[in-house]
Amino acid sequence: MDISVVIPIYNEEENIDVLYNRLATVMKDLGVSYELLFVNDGSKDKSIQLIRNLSQQHKEVRYIDFSRNFGHQVAVSAGLDHTRGNAVVIIDADLQDPPELIKEMYQKVQEGYQVVYAKRRRRDGESFMKLWTAKMFYRILSKITSVSIPVDTGDFRIMDKCIVEALRQMPEKHKFLRGQISWIGYNQTYVEYDRSQRHGGETGYTYGKMIRFALDGITAFSDTPLKMITFFGFFVSGFAFLMSLWALYARFIAGDYEPGWASLIVSVLFIGGIQMIALGIIGEYLMRMNSNVMDRPLYIIRDSNVKNDGEEKP
Ligand code: UDP
Ligand code: MG
Repeated sequence: MDISVVIPIYNEEENIDVLYNRLATVMKDLGVSYELLFVNDGSKDKSIQLIRNLSQQHKEVRYIDFSRNFGHQVAVSAGLDHTRGNAVVIIDADLQDPPELIKEMYQKVQEGYQVVYAKRRRRDGESFMKLWTAKMFYRILSKITSVSIPVDTGDFRIMDKCIVEALRQMPEKHKFLRGQISWIGYNQTYVEYDRSQRHGGETGYTYGKMIRFALDGITAFSDTPLKMITFFGFFVSGFAFLMSLWALYARFIAGDYEPGWASLIVSVLFIGGIQMIALGIIGEYLMRMNSNVMDRPLYIIRDSNVKNDGEEKP
């Protein structure tokens, strides 16, 4: 098997057939043996029926059907757990990632790169808010992380089997695949493309999901927020120490003191706020530690035509 394509699916009934046709054409042009692994992440529409139909017509189509919505990163991880190809592609189902780019990416794999990711030159048809928050997030993340995670890059990429095997050994429950792949290393490069609009349907990434995803990325690849707490702690304590010297002096030596309600309330609220933020930051790390210690399975499969060891069902 030359290429496996992993496709996470959440309410993509309008896109599946078009996607299949474009991917199949690309693979035919490349002249490779391939599989298309659809992971249905608890879609509420007819996506899974469409995928089943495709799998009956084409032997290259394999699928995993989740018991509920586990999220995009988990869906991709499940796909990666079951691929057999020497190279593995991750692609969105909404055709925002053009399948035709795989040709150029596969070329680079043959030149000896283990990871070729697709870097967005432009993003059409997305809200100003989404573009701006995404841009800020990638810039901040690259400032505070120890591994360098490429900016303006999603999960659309092709990678060698060795990367997939390394990913399978990473047990974290809160996946941030693009960071994990950077962490793995080897020779990585990129091709550029213009990201177009969704072909049909709506985005499955709500702001809530985006914030959780951003926090997963930060907590998994940076200790900076924790270090900032320590820094602020020292800063605020130093300031409080000077203030108390001054307050004692004013009260007992100079004897000119004010009732001081304003300064009291301000400092109480300020310290209270800092403490809450600090607890929240610690909580974010702790919550992730907790779910890693609980060690629940990452996903539950309702139905599939793929067996666990990557072999076809008899
Ligand atoms: N997706 C998923 N589970 C989710 C949300 C999204 O599997 O909970 C899939 C979705 O079907 C698509 C890909 O992840 O193939 C990217 O999602 P989307 O296009 O909604 O995100 P956006 O491009 O708006 O960031
Ligand atoms: Mg999309």
